[in-house]
Amino acid sequence: MILRRFMKHAKEQNWFAVGLDVIVVIVGIFLGLQVQVWNEGRKERVDEKIYLNRLHSEVLKSIEIVEPALKFKQEKQASLYEVLDIFLGKKEAEALTPMQCFSIITSGVYSDQVISLPTIVELMTSGQLSIIQNDDIKADIIDYNITQDEWREMISDIRDSRVNFVRKYPEINGYDLRMKTMSRSMEGINALNHYCDLDKMKDSVPFKNDVLSATNKIAAINNAFLTDELNRFKNLHQKIDKELGLSHP
Ligand SMILES: [Zn+2]
Repeated sequence: MILRRFMKHAKEQNWFAVGLDVIVVIVGIFLGLQVQVWNEGRKERVDEKIYLNRLHSEVLKSIEIVEPALKFKQEKQASLYEVLDIFLGKKEAEALTPMQCFSIITSGVYSDQVISLPTIVELMTSGQLSIIQNDDIKADIIDYNITQDEWREMISDIRDSRVNFVRKYPEINGYDLRMKTMSRSMEGINALNHYCDLDKMKDSVPFKNDVLSATNKIAAINNAFLTDELNRFKNLHQKIDKELGLSHP
């Protein structure tokens, strides 16, 4: 219709009307584009909310996993320090406690995995990260992604050089065969009777060296990985709470 009117005005050489027709068309296109941009923006804001809400529940779940794991590993680290003090003669002991013995023989077990949050993976791989408007949250997501690779590398290096104490020193220490799963509770550990011969340990320089090295590895995992991971999750959680206007008891 606009075209027919335009042709009619052109034939009549009514240049003012022709000019007006052109302006109407241009304004129409402009408004159409604006509405499209506005709609896309609105859709992105809705998507951003969905992503942030998902990320929120993933971060909360991860905190619930990492917090007790770190606490348990710190207890293990503390009891290995006690063992080293006994080896050094700074601490008196006739025998090792169940926790101290457990800590040595399981010191090469690193079951804690770097947690990949599905929403972060999706945002990064789909190139949709720009949907997140909060620069602080965006920076945290990018940073977490980079740090994850560093943690994985560190854990893999530590794993490669770990010592299996029970296999390497069967005459000095051994598992209680009643242990079916790797218990993380004190009651579970105290209920078992792992075998640790303190006198033989004290006499073996290689054994003591291996305990020292295992202790340092656990300390590295606790400080450079688990503590860092937990703090990052907690920071991110606070920022998402603020962004979504959430508050927790
Ligand atoms: Zn929250």
